[in-house]
Amino acid sequence: MKKSKIGTDVVWAGEADYLAFGATQVPVVHSVSFGYKDMDEWYDVATGKKEGHIYGRNTNPTVQAFEEKLRLLEGAEAATSFSTGMAAISNTLATLLFPGDRVVSIKDTYGGTNKIFTEFLPKQKIDVQLCETGNHEEIEKEIAKGCKVVYLETPTNPTVKITDIERMVKAAKKQGAITVIDNTFATPINQNPIEYGVDLVIHSATKFLGGHADALGGIVCGDKKLVEEVFHYREINGATLDPMAAYLLLRSMKTLKLRVERQNENAMKIAQFLKTIDIVEDVFYPGLEEHPGHDIAKKQMSGFGGMLSFSVKGGVDTVRNLLPKLKYANRAANLGAVETIVGPARTTSHVECTPEERAAMGIPEGLIRYSAGIEDVDDLIEDLTQAFQSLPKES
Ligand SMILES: *Cc1c(COP(=O)(O)O)cnc(C)c1O
Repeated sequence: MKKSKIGTDVVWAGEADYLAFGATQVPVVHSVSFGYKDMDEWYDVATGKKEGHIYGRNTNPTVQAFEEKLRLLEGAEAATSFSTGMAAISNTLATLLFPGDRVVSIKDTYGGTNKIFTEFLPKQKIDVQLCETGNHEEIEKEIAKGCKVVYLETPTNPTVKITDIERMVKAAKKQGAITVIDNTFATPINQNPIEYGVDLVIHSATKFLGGHADALGGIVCGDKKLVEEVFHYREINGATLDPMAAYLLLRSMKTLKLRVERQNENAMKIAQFLKTIDIVEDVFYPGLEEHPGHDIAKKQMSGFGGMLSFSVKGGVDTVRNLLPKLKYANRAANLGAVETIVGPARTTSHVECTPEERAAMGIPEGLIRYSAGIEDVDDLIEDLTQAFQSLPKES
C-alpha cells in the first residue's frame, strides 16, 4: 500500500460492507447465531458456497470488519482474528507445525512466544532453534539446515533489536520455509512485512492497534491459503475475538496513524533526552544512529516506533526509586497505549527469567522499558527530569 494513503485507510478501509441500516459506524452484532428461513440458503452458507454467518465462534460481521481493515492496512490477501495476541501466535504455530518439524526463530521474541518455543513445542516433538537476535549469519545458517517455519519479531522486547526482514525471507524461501513475523511493535504504520514477501503477519491488537488498554485481541494476515488454515484451526479451537472488543479495536484504529506518528516522535525525543542524563547507562532505540540495527530499521521501517528502553546506574535500587516519581506514566505490563507506560524488564517482558538468564540475554537488572504515549513531549521530559533530580545523590 502507498504510505500516503494509509492515514485515509485507517479511517475508511474495510467498513463499507458492514454499515447496516445506514449507520456510519460499524454496528456491534452481539447475536451469537444467524438464522435462515430457506433451508437451501442455510445449507449453502454453512458449507461456504454462499457468504454469510452461522455461529459466532466461526464468524461475526463486526469481527469481520476489523479483520478487513487490518487486511487492507497490511496489504494482505486475507486476515483472521483472535481473542488475544497470544492466541494468534499459538494458533498459527499449532496450525503450521507437526511432530518432526523444525522452526527457526530468535531468542528475544515476546515472553509468551518464547514460552511456546521453550516449553510447549518441544513436548510436541517439534525441533525449535532459537538464534541470537540480530545475528543474521547465525539465523541464515540455521535456516539453511532446513526448516518448516521461520518465526521473526522486529523490533523486539525489551532492547528493541532489529532483524533484516528482506534478508531472512530470502533465506527462508530458498528452503521453501514459511515466514511468520510478529509486527506488534512496528504496527502497519511503521512497517509492512508483506512488501518483503513475509507469508504471515501477526499483531497483538491489544497494544498499538487498540491503543487504549481496554480491549484484548490478535490478528493474523497474509497468504490466503495459510490464513484459511489458521482460521480453520481457530474456529474449531475457539479463541474467537469478541464483537465488542472488535468494535473497540475498529474505533481505535481510526486514529492509529495519528497516534503512532506522535508516539514515534515522542520516543525519539525521549531517547535523545535520556542520552544527556548522567545516571542513564544505555539507551536502546532504533532511531538512534548508534543503535546496531539503525541502518536496517531505516531501510525497512517508515518510523522507528514508540518503544524504547534504557538502563540506569545502580540497577534495581535506582529503578525502585525512580519509577514511582513519574506523574505521567502508568507502571504496568502493557505497552502501545495513549498513556506513557513504564516498567522494569524484570517485572514485565522477562519476569519469568532468573537474573542470570536475563544477564545472558543482555538485559541489565536496571533496564526500564518505556512505551511513549501521545502526551505533549515537553511534559514527559519535565516529568523524567524531576524524577531523576529526586534520586538520592550518589555518595
Ligand atoms: C503483548 C504482545 C503479545 C501478546 O499479545 P496479548 O494480546 O497480550 O496476548 C505478542 N507479541 C508482542 C510483541 C507483544 O507485545
